[in-house]
Amino acid sequence: NPLDLVQFCQQLVEDMQFIDNGLHGIELILSQPSLSACMDEKLLRHILTNLLSNALKYSPAGMAVQLELCDRQNLAIFHVKDRGIGIPPEDLPHLFEPFQRCRNVGTISGTGMGLAIVKKCVEIHGGEISVQSEVSDEKRPGGTTLTVILPRFSLNNLTPNLNDQFSESVEAKLPKKK
Ligand code: ATP
Ligand code: MG
Repeated sequence: NPLDLVQFCQQLVEDMQFIDNGLHGIELILSQPSLSACMDEKLLRHILTNLLSNALKYSPAGMAVQLELCDRQNLAIFHVKDRGIGIPPEDLPHLFEPFQRCRNVGTISGTGMGLAIVKKCVEIHGGEISVQSEVSDEKRPGGTTLTVILPRFSLNNLTPNLNDQFSESVEAKLPKKK
């Protein structure tokens, strides 16, 4: 059964806003009123919740983040964009390696596993992930954009168990659906 990516993103943004407790605000940018895909919903949720959590975590309170959905041929393209602390150029080559944390995290806590697992999930889905970032300083605001490109109709419907575990831990924090 096909998934409407627009509806999916709307619900996801609503859920993430709830978890973020109104600290930042999340803007959803859409290029279509609907976009169908045959994707593993849990895997996609895992990918996007991780990227959005990072965008929120590494941005000061009050600074909105963005989720943009576009399409090109049979691809879905997701941009998760923030105007937060940014990633130092020396750390970019190791960003997707396990337990890697960038030198400018300061007191922001994390395990450094999120992006390593996200990259695996994207690859399982036959997609690609890339990053573009500039460090923020007093003179210039920077920020980070993570881009995920996924085939909209891949026949590969593998769901690793780790994804179920993650989805459950996020779902536990959400309000009960009516
Ligand atoms: P967790 O495992 O809880 O997600 P984490 O957020 O530290 O911990 P990753 O999500 O894998 O780990 O990210 C790796 C590192 O990349 C982070 O520690 C941080 O230094 C940097 N990083 C990731 N996303 C951003 C972002 N949007 N802005 C700035 N730095 C980021
Ligand atoms: Mg993270």
